Amino acid sequence: MPQKNDIIDRQKENDIRSPICEYARWCGVKMSKCIGCGRDLSNDDIGATKKFINRGATEFYCIDCLAEHFKVERSFIEEKIEYFRAHGCTLFPKK
Ligand SMILES: [Zn+2]
Repeated sequence: MPQKNDIIDRQKENDIRSPICEYARWCGVKMSKCIGCGRDLSNDDIGATKKFINRGATEFYCIDCLAEHFKVERSFIEEKIEYFRAHGCTLFPKK
């Protein structure tokens, strides 16, 4: 039997390291999907939608659909995400 503390520690680990789908599975939370293409979303996808479209967004795009939306390369969005992450933006948790 796992101890209660083990469970909490594992949950923390999941929180930090795993994409949101892993986290959602662990917590039993409904998984978010891209409203553009239906793909499972990562924390970065969700953070990017909030950052670039609307901080209060409750529906999210994946990075590919965001790039399409803004008519930019996917790498441009990824660069911005890394920039914001490096500057401690809370929308993009450190990996
Ligand atoms: Zn998409």
